Amino acid sequence: MSALFVFLLLLRVEFACAHEIQTNAVHMADAPDWLKRTRVEKIIDRIQTQLEWSIRRIEVTWYKDATTFQKAHGLGPMAMAVARKGDNTIHLGPLVNAQNFDQVFGHELVHIILGQKYKDAVPKWLEEGLANHLGKYGKVDYAWLARQPFPEDVRKLTHPYSGAASRVHYHYVASQALLEMIAKKCDLANLLRLSVGEGMESYLSTYCEIKDLNAEFRAWVKKKA
Ligand SMILES: [Zn+2]
Repeated sequence: MSALFVFLLLLRVEFACAHEIQTNAVHMADAPDWLKRTRVEKIIDRIQTQLEWSIRRIEVTWYKDATTFQKAHGLGPMAMAVARKGDNTIHLGPLVNAQNFDQVFGHELVHIILGQKYKDAVPKWLEEGLANHLGKYGKVDYAWLARQPFPEDVRKLTHPYSGAASRVHYHYVASQALLEMIAKKCDLANLLRLSVGEGMESYLSTYCEIKDLNAEFRAWVKKKA
């Protein structure tokens, strides 16, 4: 009888802990059933390697309903997930699921690493594109991109949390394409290392040989389309 009791107790403990995931880099108190530790670690390893950094452990919170999630970040209904550098946390909303987890989580990890490693030294437009690029948001549809009106300045492609859904989508795709272009011309980790605290623009010109970012981007999208 007592053996059965202990067994049931262990079973309870096992169930209660089933959703907690802890690695060197993250703690998730309440991860969904489908998410396994190995999957989380694989993404962390990849992003950490690409950005040459070991994350100081962050808290990752999952939200089951949209209202609580929006209250937590205050960035409006477009945000799916949010990385908060100030307190080293990632907040994953109810739209994050087994299909999109890798991209979304990878994207937010890029924000966290840039915050821990470079504080605010990386320009916002580069940070957003880099997060999309390293998060691997699928393939860029260059034919579609080429049909859209070009932004007057690609450096204005920062986090778009408001506006029409199509514009938000455009921002994501274009900033990812922009970073694909830069990654093709120079090593991103080197570029970041070189340009911290200095003008990114001058390194884009000297190290990546991108003299005019907007003109090069137009040409790149045309060529790839
Ligand atoms: Zn982002």
